[in-house]
Amino acid sequence: MRCEEIRELLPAQEGRGEATLTVRRHLSRCPECRAELARYEALGSAMRSLESHTVEPPPGLAPALAAIPTRSGVVTGARRHVTRNRRAYAGGLAAIAVAGTGAVVWRARARRLAAA
Ligand SMILES: [Zn+2]
Repeated sequence: MRCEEIRELLPAQEGRGEATLTVRRHLSRCPECRAELARYEALGSAMRSLESHTVEPPPGLAPALAAIPTRSGVVTGARRHVTRNRRAYAGGLAAIAVAGTGAVVWRARARRLAAA
């Protein structure tokens, strides 16, 4: 087999420890393909070490994340606020209702005047 054919098989050989007889024969007499296999093994080893590498969060991140209000927290807070200020909201709604009624009366009166 030629080097190009062997090198296509090398990624599959990495980490297995056992190569086919043809590959082993070629590797025993070809330093370039041995070097290529060594590069694959180094890369594979680095990739495996990344899998188990844990990263410590920077100090202060956990409290900062905990301080972010969740969606349900915002809704709960808004409900609590409305409950506490129910009178003010009821008064505001009453004022809006009165203003709406006034606008309707004013419109009807304006129409009557325009028709006359
Ligand atoms: Zn070769």
